[in-house]
Amino acid sequence: MIPDALTAAADLLTDPADMAPFLSDWTGQYAGTALAVALPRSTAQVQAVVRACAQAGLRIVPQGGNTSVAGGSVPGEGAGWIVLSLARMTALRRLDRPGRSVTVEAGMVLQSLQERLEPEGLLFPLSFGAKGSARIGGCLSTNAGGVNVLRYGNARELCLSLEAVLPDGTVIDTGAGLRKDNTGYDLRHLLIGAEGTLGIITAATLRLFALPKVRATAFLSVPGLEAALIVLNRLQDATGGGVEMFEYMPEATTRLVTRHFPHLRCPLDPVPPCGILVEVASTAAYDAEPGEEGAPRLNARVEEALAALFEEGLILDASLAQSIAQRDTLLSMREHVLESLMAEGRWRQYDISVPLAALPGFVSALEDGLPEGVRLHMVGHLGDGNLHLSILPGDAAGLDDTVYDLVAAQAGSISAEHGIGRSKAVMLAARKDPGTLAAMRLIKAALDPEGGMNPGAMLQVSLNAFEK
Ligand SMILES: Cc1cc2nc3c(=O)[nH]c(=O)nc-3n(C[C@H](O)[C@H](O)[C@H](O)COP(=O)(O)OP(=O)(O)OC[C@H]3O[C@@H](n4cnc5c(N)ncnc54)[C@H](O)[C@@H]3O)c2cc1C
Repeated sequence: MIPDALTAAADLLTDPADMAPFLSDWTGQYAGTALAVALPRSTAQVQAVVRACAQAGLRIVPQGGNTSVAGGSVPGEGAGWIVLSLARMTALRRLDRPGRSVTVEAGMVLQSLQERLEPEGLLFPLSFGAKGSARIGGCLSTNAGGVNVLRYGNARELCLSLEAVLPDGTVIDTGAGLRKDNTGYDLRHLLIGAEGTLGIITAATLRLFALPKVRATAFLSVPGLEAALIVLNRLQDATGGGVEMFEYMPEATTRLVTRHFPHLRCPLDPVPPCGILVEVASTAAYDAEPGEEGAPRLNARVEEALAALFEEGLILDASLAQSIAQRDTLLSMREHVLESLMAEGRWRQYDISVPLAALPGFVSALEDGLPEGVRLHMVGHLGDGNLHLSILPGDAAGLDDTVYDLVAAQAGSISAEHGIGRSKAVMLAARKDPGTLAAMRLIKAALDPEGGMNPGAMLQVSLNAFEK
C-alpha cells in the first residue's frame, strides 16, 4: 500500500511494465520488486519522498543510470521497496568559468555534461564505457574510476562539494565548491562511494579542466608487465605527465573483442600478447601545431619517446593513430570488452587493485593458480594498478578464494572501482579489516538508524530484522 504522503511527494510509476527497467540491473543478474518508482524533480521532492518512506517504514534504493556492475542499484529481497530515480533531475545549475567548476543535479548523464562543456573548452574528465547512461549521482556514489584516473583522479577527487538528503530527510550542503574548507568532518567524502547507503546525492559541484587541444593515441606491444610499467613512467617523463590513459589489453582480450565486433580491427599484426592502449594529451596550443612532418608536435614527441623505448627493447611494436577515426577504433576496442564478455555467457568478474610494483607478480601467480579448463580475460587500468579479471565459465568453483587470497597477499583491494553493491557484501564482511568494518557499521547506524537506505548494499543486513 502506497502512503498518501508518498503519492503527494513526487511523480510515481506503479505499473509493472513502466517499472520494469528500474527493477533489474544491466547484467540481468540482480532484480527485485518495488511498490513504486519515484521520479522527483527537485531536492525538495527528494526530501519529501525520503520523509514519506521513513514514516511508512519503506526501503529506498537510489538509482542513477542503473549501470552498476555490483548489483547495488536495484531493489533487494522482500517487500516494501521504493526506487528513487534521479533521472528527472538533470539541470546544470551553475558554470563557474574562471573558477573551473560546475554545479549539476545528480541526474545529469556523464556524457551529456561533457557535451555541454566541450563548446566552452572545458572538460569533466571522468570516462568509462557506460558514460552515455551513468549519471553524476551514481558516479559519485560508486566513486567511479575509468580510463582517465591516472591523470585526473577518480570521482572523489573530482568533486568539490555535495548537496544530499540524509535518511531522516535532512538536506545537507557541504559548501560552495571551495578548494579549501577545513571546518569539521567532510561529509562529502562519506557520501562519495557510499553506494546510496547513507543518503541521496541531489547535486554536486565538480572540478573542471581545460579541454586538451591535441591527443596522441597508440596501441603498443610490450614484452611484459614489468616493461609496461617502465614505458608508462618514461612516457610520463617525456610528456610532462601528459599520459591520460594506459590500458592493459592482453591478446586473449583483444581477440575476444575483435571476434565479437569484427569492425574493430587490432592495428598490430600479430595481436600482441601484452598490448597497451595509451593516450597522451596536451592543452598547449604549441603541441597541437603541425611540426616538420605535418603532424601535431605532440605526435612527434610521443613518436620520439616510443622510438627510444623501441631501441631499448621495451616496446616491440607500436601503431600511432593517424586520424580521429583510428583513435575512435582504438578506444572502442577498449570500451567493448564488457559487452564481448557478456556475449560469451556467464562469467565471474573481479575488479581488483594491487600496488603497481606488485602487479606483474600478481598476474603470473594468478595465471599459475587457476585450475585447468578455465579461461582468463584481463583488461585493466594499468596505471592505477587496477585489473578487471573475467573468468569463464562463471560457475567454476573456488575461484573467489583463489583470486582474493592472491589480492590479500599483495595488500590489494577486492573492489577497486565498481563498488560492493549486493554482489560483494558477503566478501566485504569476510575480508575487510574488522576495525574499519565496525566503524562503517557505526556510521551507518548513526545516519540511518532504521536501516532503510539501500539495505543490503555494501553492508550485510538481515532483511527479516527490517520487517516491522
Ligand atoms: C559498459 C560499462 C563499463 C563500465 N566501466 C566502468 C569503469 O571503467 N569504471 C567504473 O568505476 N565503473 C564502471 N562501470 C560501472 C558503472 O557504470 C559505474 O559504477 C557508474 O558510476 C554507475 O553510475 P549510475 O548512474 O549508473 O549508478 P547506478 O547504477 O544507478 O547506481 C550505482 C550505485 O549508486 C547508488 N546511487 C545512484 N545514484 C545515487 C544518488 N544520486 N545518491 C545516492 N546513491 C546513488 C545506487 O543506489 C547504487 O548503489 C561500467 C559499467 C558498464 C555497464
